[in-house]
Amino acid sequence: MPADTTARSRSGARRAHDAGFVLDIRSLGRAPGSMRKLRRTVTTSEQLGLDLIAVPAGSEVELDLRLQSVSEGVLVTGTVTAPVAGECSRCLEQFTDSVDVSLTELFAYPDSATDKTASDDEIYRMDDDLIDLEPLVVDQLGIELPLQPLCTPDCAGLCPECGVRMAIAGSDHGHEILDPRWAGLAKFASGSPGSGSPEGAATGDHSVDIARNSTEEK
Ligand SMILES: [Zn+2]
Ligand SMILES: [Zn+2]
Repeated sequence: MPADTTARSRSGARRAHDAGFVLDIRSLGRAPGSMRKLRRTVTTSEQLGLDLIAVPAGSEVELDLRLQSVSEGVLVTGTVTAPVAGECSRCLEQFTDSVDVSLTELFAYPDSATDKTASDDEIYRMDDDLIDLEPLVVDQLGIELPLQPLCTPDCAGLCPECGVRMAIAGSDHGHEILDPRWAGLAKFASGSPGSGSPEGAATGDHSVDIARNSTEEK
């Protein structure tokens, strides 16, 4: 149908057909109450989500949706399931997981009362007979994904003393923390002869001794 291509060219090539996150709802019809189920696997062209956790580009996102015609537009309900890759905010390890996002959203018909009265950020709008789900999915991922993701809910993080990952180091990992009451004694001990720490001074003394001895020998 060449007429359709012309009509949609102004929306950009990406939106020009029923594919990916773009749904063509002409087959649904505009009679309120008509309903259509839609299952589709969408391969993402770019990363969707947050800085620390996101759906990577090239991921397969599963759409399991119900499209329902209502007087003002099309009500989209269902779930979007996607793999996510993240970086743990406690131990900084990369991890993968999946996320389920529930959708319940009205896409307003062009020129409907809702379209005319709602501001841009209040509702999602249809573009002719097309619904672009991507902005909705991106918005919902922003709500659903954690700002401080964790590789596991009980991630033990990093050792505060040496920075080793506690999951690798084991639960018995620890550092000898000197009792502050003994800290003074420890300093005294390390400064005493035989401990080896004032090595420079000892060598110095020794060489002086040798020098003295050699002069005496002459
Ligand atoms: Zn972690
Ligand atoms: Zn440590």
